[in-house]
Amino acid sequence: MIRTGDEYRYSINTGRDIWIDGEKVEDILNHPVFKPAIDVRARIYDMAHEDKTRSIMTYEADGETNSIAHKRPYSEQDWLDKRRAVEAVLDDVKGVVTRVGDATIGEMWSLYDGRDVLNEVNPAYADNISRHLDDAVTADLFQVSANTDPKGDRSRPPHEQDPDMLLHAVAETPRGIIVRGAKYETAAAYANRAFVKPTIANWGNSELSEYALGFSLDMNTPGLKFICRSGFAGRQKPEDYPLSNRVDEVDTLVVFDDVEIPWEDVFFYQHTKAATYIRQTLHRYSAYPFVLRVIRLADMLIGTALWNVKQTGLDKVPAVQEKLARLACYREGIHAHLTAAVKLGETSPGGLYMPNQSLLYSGRILASSQLPEMMHLARELCGGQMVLTPDYASFQHPETGPWLNKFYSVNENWVAEDRRRLLAYARDLLNSDYAGHRVTFQLFAQSPPFANSDALYRSFDWNHSLDVVKEAAGLSDNILPERYAKDLALSGAGA
Ligand SMILES: Cc1cc2nc3c(=O)[nH]c(=O)nc-3n(C[C@H](O)[C@H](O)[C@H](O)COP(=O)(O)OP(=O)(O)OC[C@H]3O[C@@H](n4cnc5c(N)ncnc54)[C@H](O)[C@@H]3O)c2cc1C
Repeated sequence: MIRTGDEYRYSINTGRDIWIDGEKVEDILNHPVFKPAIDVRARIYDMAHEDKTRSIMTYEADGETNSIAHKRPYSEQDWLDKRRAVEAVLDDVKGVVTRVGDATIGEMWSLYDGRDVLNEVNPAYADNISRHLDDAVTADLFQVSANTDPKGDRSRPPHEQDPDMLLHAVAETPRGIIVRGAKYETAAAYANRAFVKPTIANWGNSELSEYALGFSLDMNTPGLKFICRSGFAGRQKPEDYPLSNRVDEVDTLVVFDDVEIPWEDVFFYQHTKAATYIRQTLHRYSAYPFVLRVIRLADMLIGTALWNVKQTGLDKVPAVQEKLARLACYREGIHAHLTAAVKLGETSPGGLYMPNQSLLYSGRILASSQLPEMMHLARELCGGQMVLTPDYASFQHPETGPWLNKFYSVNENWVAEDRRRLLAYARDLLNSDYAGHRVTFQLFAQSPPFANSDALYRSFDWNHSLDVVKEAAGLSDNILPERYAKDLALSGAGA
């Protein structure tokens, strides 16, 4: 089943307890901060129905039309189709959006891989896992990810501080479990469901914990409060900040004030082994769409820098070309990692086709760790005029406009309005509040850098490198009694 944009809007317009900038949100669909993000998500739904994009966005199975984004991956082609659909969305919205569903649904496929392990730990929830996995494909819901708690003082165990710093179960009822705490979730206020699970945790030797719980959360559940960070949309004119006003995705602290989670939505409960397992496999699929967005970001950096140096005639200078080549190398490095990861994909324990884990996780580190440097390079190539340029209103005003038109007309091909537009776009991409937030998003939103390194550490084939040196150096057989196990069941890591 595929929904329309309006059906999606209807599903979230349910009077949720949403707050921003110290005010309660009464009309989320038309609120200046939320409207752009909701319109983007609705647009993605509508693209699935339009002649031009239907075949890119959907597939047919068992007489039903479903979203490509939600399709479980069984082949290389499935990943290529997903990539094409994401690129169609980014083309359409003219910017980068990440938390629109396709980047979080992969966490459910990790659950699919882990269903046998989870059932072994506690078979009570097997049906719930299967049903939600099917729903993820057929119900076309917009699902987000809930991993990160406020966490509190990590030098002390949860019981020696406010226990709500980590989400936990406080009671059981005949209908379900009562949950208290909070989670950070991008896009939560306008999503349908979230896959909620514990953050990275050291469970020690304890087998059972009220903090070890995973479930599917219906965002319309009573008791949830959505406290959102200030938005970038609506603050300044779209002419001056085009990206802030078009593609800002609103992050939210979702407070669970004794929220009842029905038993039928619970995936695991109390067993720390289940929680550990799901954390360690969480991003084996979802890292792909997360990193894919950075290719588009890199395209935006390259295009902005190149248009600027073309405008100013600097594109013929070898030192400038060298800097552009570094940007291209960054872009192609990520592209190569993702392409190879799909080409050399691996079969998961659940029989799905997962991107080659070592290549995927090294691509994630490359993309995230070098982004600040690449943004700085693009900033350098754009020059200081990016931040010195007056705003749109000054270009329009009869007193100042003629002066600005004179000084911003570069030559017969580059009129002042094109130069103003490019510099405004560059400022928003590289220097605005939105730009800084975007870098932080890539740094943390899937998991922090140490967890990204950990995921690669557990996926890389260390034995091969050891063998190369053992042979070359003529080392004896006694020195390596233990080999590194490449455990596909546990490859990957999350935040
Ligand atoms: C823009 C944005 C959007 C986000 N969206 C979501 C979302 O949709 N869903 C979601 O669940 N979360 C989301 N997050 C939260 C994100 O997952 C966390 O920020 C991230 O996991 C880091 O956790 P933290 O912020 O508590 O930082 P901390 O845990 O306080 O970590 C800060 C730093 O401390 C160090 N550190 C901490 N622990 C260790 C350790 N064990 N070993 C080594 N070093 C360590 C590292 O240097 C780390 O980077 C988002 C974050 C951002 C910034």
